Amino acid sequence: MGLRSFGNVIGGKRVAASDGGVIESVEPATGVPWASIPRSRTGDVGRAVSAARDAFPGWWGLPALGRAAHLRSLAELVRSHAAELATIESRDVGRVARETAAGDLPACTEMLHFFAGMADKIHGDTVNVGPASFNFTRREPYGVVGIIVPWNAPLSIACAKVGAALAAGNTVVVKPAEEAGCSISYLAELIAESGFPDGVLNVVNGIGEEAGQALVRHPGVGRLTFTGSTDTARTITAQSAPTLKPLHFELGGKSPNIVFADADLEAAAVGVSTAAVYTGGAGQTCIAGSRILLHASIFDEMVERIRTHAASVVLGDPTDHATTMGPLVSEAQYRRVMGYLEEGRHEGRLVFGGRGAPDLFPADSPYSRGWFVEPTLFAVDGNDHRICREEIFGPVAAAMPFETEEEAVALANDSSYGLAAGVWTSDLGRAHRMVRDLDAGSVWVNAYRRIHWGLPFGGFKESGYGKDSGLEGILENTRIKTAWIDLGQSS
Ligand code: NAD
Repeated sequence: MGLRSFGNVIGGKRVAASDGGVIESVEPATGVPWASIPRSRTGDVGRAVSAARDAFPGWWGLPALGRAAHLRSLAELVRSHAAELATIESRDVGRVARETAAGDLPACTEMLHFFAGMADKIHGDTVNVGPASFNFTRREPYGVVGIIVPWNAPLSIACAKVGAALAAGNTVVVKPAEEAGCSISYLAELIAESGFPDGVLNVVNGIGEEAGQALVRHPGVGRLTFTGSTDTARTITAQSAPTLKPLHFELGGKSPNIVFADADLEAAAVGVSTAAVYTGGAGQTCIAGSRILLHASIFDEMVERIRTHAASVVLGDPTDHATTMGPLVSEAQYRRVMGYLEEGRHEGRLVFGGRGAPDLFPADSPYSRGWFVEPTLFAVDGNDHRICREEIFGPVAAAMPFETEEEAVALANDSSYGLAAGVWTSDLGRAHRMVRDLDAGSVWVNAYRRIHWGLPFGGFKESGYGKDSGLEGILENTRIKTAWIDLGQSS
């Protein structure tokens, strides 16, 4: 069977790359190519930015409730095609249907409704400078917002960024990850066919150093929002310097998940294992709780509880709802994670796991050639190892003991990242102290990996700056104009 083909969407039309270039998208569960997306070049990106610029006056010129109505129709379009979008995403990225069909797609619908509801609630302020003038601010869109998306959760990350930017009156150009362009492209094709205004939402696929870089450098892009790795964010910062465009970065993490002896240990065992790092996306989540800090008095007991939950993980076909963990996204990511597993054997004690696909499935299973890695835990004696400092982006965690609350805070904050943290305790005062003292953009208490479109989300330190979602995520898509009207003299 031939490859399924997905296109770019520019100015409301599905188009190929102008030179006909394509990227093969490999199904990570089997290692077999299943689809193709365009490999766009600088000229294609230029056409997408022009289409977005042409559409901007009409979109920003609509009453806010007009933009809201379009966003609501977009939300319902996602709802009515949710099953197909989820299947495409699960095949393309390897993330399990339990998370795409049951989680991401309903969330995309809800968040687009949330952003629709916010479109008419964006306003400036009046400022009392004195009796001789009337002073106020206006919140205005940037024009075209460039959106660069990673491969781990393409649809939900794209919908959060697109919804906020469009609600604020911008038009957008989205560049999906080269490993994961199919679901976003398919959604864009549906949008183009649905009567959504042409050019308001454009999707241009391609490689980061080609199409991504062209979007970053383009002077017609007024703001750029990026989710991806910290290293790429550094490159983008340098590439965008000539145009001085505002940047927003959602980056990596090495998040601590801390269990105190007074916690509900069974809830914590789930919360630090299958909920945090042995996830449906195989730990390929920026907020993976990849450092598990356990009070020394419960260390051994918790390790056994974690082992039990890890053993319940079902690897296999990501489109099957019975599967609880899918493969890694690509061969490159598989090799990277296997390298860390080797490293971890020298840095700590392998408690369980450590095997890749060929050792997990019979040789005649198609999944034996996929990019599966089993849940893995290392026990370590401190935080200085590479497996404790670098983002592995796989189902791999390091467990370390601590004695006091102060030591837990110090270990947790001893990271170049500051994206998220989890705390498991039954002590209310301790819960509040930990929220106060942890240097991370999101802190969960007796919960983990909980994200909601109504709440701002973003990291500290090398995990980036700025916010997606929440009111803050919308306001970051606006720039403030200050007005001074001299009132003159009464005659
Ligand atoms: P990546 O940085 O390699 O790629 C992300 C995107 O940037 C892709 O679309 C890629 O094509 C593009 N890109 C690459 N080089 C570019 C360049 N020079 N100019 C412009 N664009 C370029 O990241 P990834 O491997 O796709 O995703 C994994 C990373 O994303 C992890 O570090 C993870 O923690 C992070 N992430 C963060 C969040 C968050 O919200 N904080 C969410 C998901 C993933």
